[in-house]
Amino acid sequence: MNFILFTNCNILDVVNEKICKGSILVEDGVIREVGDVKDPEGAEIVDLNGAYVSPGLFNCHTHILMSGEPSISHNGDVESVVNALENCRKLVSTGVTFIRDMGGSRFYDIQLRDMQKKGKICAPEMQVSGKNICMTGGHGWDGGREADGPDDARKAAREQLKAGADWIKLMATGGVMTKGVEPGSPQLTEEEMRAAIQEAHKVNARTATHAQGTEGIKNALRAGIDSIEHGFYLDQWCLDYMKENNVWFVPTLSAMYWIKKNGVEAGIPEWAVKKVNGAFDAHKDSFLRAYKAGIKICLGTDAGTPFNFHDMTAYEMILMVEDGMTPWDAIKSGTINAAQLCQVEATHGTIEPGKTANLTVYAKDPVSDIHNVMDVCMTVIGGKIAYCK
Ligand SMILES: [Zn+2]
Repeated sequence: MNFILFTNCNILDVVNEKICKGSILVEDGVIREVGDVKDPEGAEIVDLNGAYVSPGLFNCHTHILMSGEPSISHNGDVESVVNALENCRKLVSTGVTFIRDMGGSRFYDIQLRDMQKKGKICAPEMQVSGKNICMTGGHGWDGGREADGPDDARKAAREQLKAGADWIKLMATGGVMTKGVEPGSPQLTEEEMRAAIQEAHKVNARTATHAQGTEGIKNALRAGIDSIEHGFYLDQWCLDYMKENNVWFVPTLSAMYWIKKNGVEAGIPEWAVKKVNGAFDAHKDSFLRAYKAGIKICLGTDAGTPFNFHDMTAYEMILMVEDGMTPWDAIKSGTINAAQLCQVEATHGTIEPGKTANLTVYAKDPVSDIHNVMDVCMTVIGGKIAYCK
């Protein structure tokens, strides 16, 4: 038996939105007791000196093979893997204990997920999607699996599932970082997405869509998608449908924010900056209307896109609060909500007996000031201290 007792904690109870003082006892990677805990014989004691302990932070939209270069560039095999390991280290050192990677290339994401499971690499837990599925020449074609027609989309989904993907990522619209495609224009058809989604759901895998323009979002929703990524232009029909059918929204405010903030001067292509500027206000507006409508929102940053680095996951919570969310809801979007999106809520997302000991420790209270999420002093993954400041 391997016991660790974390003492002098301020523990974030994300279900009841309160902070309780106490200790957390971890046995072989699983939380055993929370609160006023007696220290068992032989336990390693870790005194957290009043730090704030949150359920482990999720980033539900990453690209670990990409490192935030100004323009999306495809690196060589070795470089991609070296970058991915560095990105994993950055995620861990900023409190991220679980990621949902949304479109890799060459199935490296699947291998990295499996290596993390075996304890071979220092990385967050992962769910991955393999290659994104897009129309020929559509957004993300470079590195993705181009598919045309429902039969081909079905086959493309089967290929990703065969390789071991947990998610199927479908490109419903154009996007920012592919030259010559517009965020507003629909791409994969409803029929194509429906075929791919059926394949995923048959084996209990989940589906996510890069969807920015309204028509493409509607196609994905009618096709039965589980989560909408980005969602620049959500109209009332979309919001009603999402609410009624429990469709998740991962707004990735960070992706837009970092491109706008850095701009052409930093080397981002002019056509990409133009697209961001054209959709920026609509995106914020969609986010706020979705939040007010009670749509289930999860934290994802699109890490790996320009200047959107893997050590900035928590900044998404700051952006969400600036755009109108409460600090508690922002914290939930990256913990309990994210665990539900990834269907791991039985074992993740809260600090309770029986759950995996994934913990993000903030030096100061993130609820009274959300900016404190940037000051992570410890990350615990599966009961192991993966990072300590
Ligand atoms: Zn993305």
